Order: sequence, then C-alpha cells, then structure tokens
Amino acid sequence: MSFVIKCMDCGHTAPYFPTSTNCPRCNSQWREAEYDYDTLAKTLPLQLPGRSFDLWRYRELLPVRNPNATLSLGEGGSPLIQAVNLGMMLGTPKLFIKDERQGPTGSFKDRQAAVTVAALKEAGITEMVAASTGNVAISYSAYASRAGIKLWAFVTSLVPAMKMREIALYGSQVVKVTGSYDQAKQIASEFARQRNLYQDLGARTITSIEAMKTIAFEIAEQLTAIQGPASSNGKDRAIWRTPDWYVQAISGGMGPLGVYKGFRELKQMELVDRIPAIAAIQADGCAPMVHSFKQGLETAIPVNTPKTRIETLATGDPGRSYTLLRERILETKGTFESVTDEEAFRAMHALAKMEGISVESAAGTAFAGLFKLIRAGVIKPTDTIVVNCTGHTMPAEEFILGNNWTRDIEFPAKKQETPEDGLLAALNQIAPNRFPRVAIVDDTAEARRLIRRILQSQGDFTIFEAASGKEGLSLIRRELPDLIILDLMMPEMDGFAVMDALRADQKTAEIPVIVATAKELTPEEKNRLGAQIQSLMQKGDFLNDEFLEEVKTLIK
Ligand SMILES: *Cc1c(COP(=O)(O)O)cnc(C)c1O
Ligand SMILES: [Zn+2]
Repeated sequence: MSFVIKCMDCGHTAPYFPTSTNCPRCNSQWREAEYDYDTLAKTLPLQLPGRSFDLWRYRELLPVRNPNATLSLGEGGSPLIQAVNLGMMLGTPKLFIKDERQGPTGSFKDRQAAVTVAALKEAGITEMVAASTGNVAISYSAYASRAGIKLWAFVTSLVPAMKMREIALYGSQVVKVTGSYDQAKQIASEFARQRNLYQDLGARTITSIEAMKTIAFEIAEQLTAIQGPASSNGKDRAIWRTPDWYVQAISGGMGPLGVYKGFRELKQMELVDRIPAIAAIQADGCAPMVHSFKQGLETAIPVNTPKTRIETLATGDPGRSYTLLRERILETKGTFESVTDEEAFRAMHALAKMEGISVESAAGTAFAGLFKLIRAGVIKPTDTIVVNCTGHTMPAEEFILGNNWTRDIEFPAKKQETPEDGLLAALNQIAPNRFPRVAIVDDTAEARRLIRRILQSQGDFTIFEAASGKEGLSLIRRELPDLIILDLMMPEMDGFAVMDALRADQKTAEIPVIVATAKELTPEEKNRLGAQIQSLMQKGDFLNDEFLEEVKTLIK
C-alpha cells in the first residue's frame, strides 16, 4: 500500500513515521495521510467482499504497512442498529445507531488505539504518553499491553475512579492531574518532550484520524446493505449510501474530523456521491465550539473552567480542531449544538428504556442533541440519521438514576411460617396484586409496542392490546380497563366509531380515553371528538413526560 503524509498548510509531502510530527518544510503539525485513490477506486470494491467486517477490512486505506493480527482485539465492525422505538417517538423512522459500545474496551477510542498501537509497533516504539478524559487511556492501555508498549496515562482527577483503576489494571502508569483536561495535556506534553517519548496529539495524530474514518466506511456499507444502493454511477458500479446526518458528541472533535475524511475519500473513489451533514454536540458547561460557531468565529474562544459532570467531553480548548471542524460543518450544512447535563442524563435514560442500549453520559449527549435538533426542525422527519453511540455506561452514577430504583425484599425469618409463605409475603411487598389496567387499541404493531414500552418503563400496569377497532371494542367490554389509549386512524372501524360505541354503553361510557394519533386533526374531527377525549397525544410527542403525567392523572 502506498500513501504519503501531506501538510495541510504548505502541501509538502513526506513518508510516514509515527514520531515525526511536524512538516519538514514549514513545521506545521497539521498533516494528513493521502492514498492513491484512483487505483484504490478500481481495486478495493473487488477485494472487500471476501473480507471480514472489522476495521482492517479497509487496510489499504490505513497507515499501517503490515497489520499484525496478533495485536487485534476485534476492533471495528460495530453493528448499525435501527432505533425503531426511538425513531417512532421522534417521528424520524430512519434513525440508526452506530453501536461503538461494542468495541473491545467499550468506546470508539478502540479504533484509534488499535491503529496507533499497530503503527507504533511496526515502527519499533516501546513507550508512549497520552493525556485522556478516560476512554483514550483505557483503550490505549489495552492495546499497549498486547503490544508490549509502556503507556504513561495522564488523566484529570475528575475521571471516575473505576476508569482509573481499569487503566492501572492493564499495567499502565496512571498520572492523576488535579486540574482541567487541558492542563493534563500540557503536563503530558512536557513530560513526553523531556523524555523524548511518543505522544498522542489527538486530531494531529495521523493514526487517530485515519482510524476514525473507518466509521464512515462501515456506515456507508451497512446502510447500503439495509437500504439498497443509492444509485449506479453509470460505470457498472453501485453507489453506496450516505446518511443525511452523522450525529456525535464531541470533546476535541477527532471523531467527526475522521468521519468526514472517510466520506471524502469514499467520494474521491466515487463510492458515494456526497458527504453527510455533521451535527457535533457539546455539553453546555464546556461548549467552546458551539459558542464560537454561533458567534460566527473561525477561531474558538476556550472555556478555561469546564462546568459539566460529563468529564469525557471536557476539552475546554479545542485549538485548530475547531477551525477545521467548522469548515467541514459549514461545507456539509451541518451544525454545532449543545445540551445541558440533565438533558443528556434524560436521553441516556430514554435510550436505555426504549432501545435496551445503555450508554455513558457522553453518548447520551449526542442523543439529547439529536432530540433538540429534531424539535428545532433542523433534522427532518424523512432524513436518514446515524448517531454514534460512542461509549458504554461506566457505572450509572446515582445522580443519573435518581432514587427509588430498587424494591427491597426482606426475607422473613419467623420459624412458624413455611418458607413458601414467607416467599409469597415477600413477593407481595414488591408489587401489589392489581395494577391499573390499560387497553391499547392501535392497528400498527410498532405503535402498540412503543406505548407498552413507555408504560412499562415508568410504572406497573396490566396492559391489553387490540389491533383493530372491532377487536378493541370487545376487549374493552370484556376487561373494563381503567384507561384506553386509542388510535384514530384504523381501517374498517376507526377510533371515532369506537368512541361512539363506548359512549353509547353505560358500562364503558366513563372510561377515560387518550387519543394517540400521528395525524393533525382537522377542526371538524376535533369537533367530533369534542369533550369526549381526555387528551390528544401526537405520536411524536411521547418523549415528553406529559404523556405519562396524563396517564397517571386519568388513572387515579
Ligand atoms: C472521546 C469521546 C467522545 C468525544 O470524541 P471526539 O470526537 O474526540 O471529540 C465522545 N464520547 C465518548 C464516549 C468518548 O470517549
Ligand atoms: Zn508544511
């Protein structure tokens, strides 16, 4: 494989060596790998079908000459999961999650560590330095241990103790810096300079950007498999799919810079016809890029004292990464957005409850940003959206979960009772025998599942389902539920007709009804429903706590 390192400032090209970090002509540290795209455009599509789906699938586009299989931990090749429930709640059915939690150490930093450590090993380097908000050091530690490389990990004291211990467990030296992440980086730099050690320089590290771009390659291939090819380029070859949006929570912005480069290379090889809009999300308490972008600045104003509990995202001074990312985001008609810590925690909760995906608060930030951008109309209902689920839950902290999340059983020790009696009594403490009874009448299975899921995740209900108006009516007459959640648009007997029948029968006339509908009602229809309905929920509105509040009031 042939590639060169090209200076972004003066265009000078040089061969790659990991420890040479500056352009030999102008001394710039901002350089990137450039490959022979014309040749690869012809050869790569023929080679891919026989290869396994992992990061090394694209080895001709990575700065490692001979990938060493014995260093691999199975990096890359993460699934692209359709978020059906969340997509319905948000009214964006083409919503996908790139599940980077499934990397070997649980975050997308595993790509960066796998490629960098492979390149270092190839160059004979045995000691390195990295500053980290946690996950980079964990990933590097895992790969460094396999490669026989010693890692000095500089982390801020805000990094959770569990993460620090994991770094130490891999045999790395943890250096705890009481200060901000930017300060930890400064100290790490000085340490590396004095000892002449290799140092990870974030977005200026060739291997980091190159590793992150494999996310783009995978998304394009996976979306093509799901949605079919975008078109044909007239040269007897299919064009791969590009999502409309790539959404990611950012700290230094390395991920989206890499993903952008990945799509750009695919475009250069005519494998895709466009680059997605990038939405980069920060935490409000540390959002230098968002604030600078909104003020139209080309250079970021740093945040000196980040005020967020999401320490993974606490890069206060993004430096030139911001300027580059801003250019890319303007070019792709993307955006920068920020969310509060609370919004991120709530999004984490929603994602876990609705999709069974438990993420760390940094990844929750991306989802909170997604919710915000959809609500603002920036991301459209018809868009194909890929959210990078960057990292797995590292202890779900108490402040995220709140109180009252367990029900405790105390096993009675009294002798006169048989053990079974004791167990039954104990189980009765967990939940009463009778739960509020709710009937869901909706002709689409996904909608029923979604409503069931929302109810289940928030409390105890006995839930009945009916898939048509007729079925619903007989169900309601039989079970006499405490509440009915009714769809309006159903074939044969629609919701209006169900409602009329319920009102005509004194046994069912008083049961409260929540109308759940995806459609805007005409004034006429509203009139027809009149005072009968208790509440009207647009299907896209379910994320708000309103729906549950409504359910709770009606059931009392
Ligand atoms: C590092 C990290 C981010 C931010 O990544 P950048 O692209 O470097 O800004 C987001 N989420 C998680 C889980 C991370 O570890
Ligand atoms: Zn140069």
